[in-house]
Amino acid sequence: MNIPVADFHCDVLMKLLEDNKLSFQEDATGQLDVTLQKLKQSGAVFQTFAIFTSLTQRAGIEPVLESIDLFHRQVLTNPEIQWVRSKEDLKASISGGRIGAMLSIEGMDRLNGNPAMLRSLYELGVRAAGFTWNNANWAADGAMEERGAGLTAKGKEFVRLCDELGILLDVSHLSERAFWDMADTASRTILASHSNASSILPHKRNLSDDQIKAIIALQGVIGVTYVPYFVSGHSPVTIEDLLRHIERICELGGEQHVMLGSDFDGIEVYIDQLTGPQDVQHLQDALLKRYSEEQVRRFMSGNAIRFLLQHLPDGRS
Ligand SMILES: [Zn+2]
Repeated sequence: MNIPVADFHCDVLMKLLEDNKLSFQEDATGQLDVTLQKLKQSGAVFQTFAIFTSLTQRAGIEPVLESIDLFHRQVLTNPEIQWVRSKEDLKASISGGRIGAMLSIEGMDRLNGNPAMLRSLYELGVRAAGFTWNNANWAADGAMEERGAGLTAKGKEFVRLCDELGILLDVSHLSERAFWDMADTASRTILASHSNASSILPHKRNLSDDQIKAIIALQGVIGVTYVPYFVSGHSPVTIEDLLRHIERICELGGEQHVMLGSDFDGIEVYIDQLTGPQDVQHLQDALLKRYSEEQVRRFMSGNAIRFLLQHLPDGRS
């Protein structure tokens, strides 16, 4: 049995941006975690592709636009992939047996607080936004910024603009104060694309029980992430360790709110037996030992798809 998989975070566009010889369609180098082949093998129905340029040395908006260009030239050119910008796109993608591909942005540093940049990114297909990476920027403090400040006035303005446009708000990298500011300012829902439970492993990138409960109360979703140091303090980190985070979110009332946010291609170390999309079967098997098939279907894609069908914009004619 291969249960459909939806994954809310990967950084393959970053690797393609850094090395123009790499290919998503046919990766001969083995350097990419997420490739067309491995997604197909995993039973993927949906994958978010993050625009992540915080580690890119060049200044300005160009790396953001180049990432979108790579998404078009390397990802969307495959007939097995369908671009997801609306509810209708996602429905068509699922009924056509294709892999839905959605753009998100991780860190808005390069938008410089300019609403025209955000509106343009919406037009180019960006449907989810994390305002920061780990550092601070004009919008907010990130999770690893010592100051720990919340959203700026401009950041709050951008929360409202995202809600108006139909760009989903991603809290994963925010400082705790910025998280609560975003939860208070948002008029719709929020999501955490790739974060775990800090009551299982205390880490600034993980979410406290109160934060998890707040996301659930706002009808949001939480993608458990395979980053070993957000999963467990010992080594090797195993799939069983990851299951403890899923269990915790469920204990807090999140059975309908757990999803997956691998962070593949954003990590250099892996959970044992979870080194790429082709390994997600191992996670599925471990889940099936502990949960019903219906529950496992929810965790692996059902919750994410339901959420998207509820919150993505309606398709334009
Ligand atoms: Zn990240």
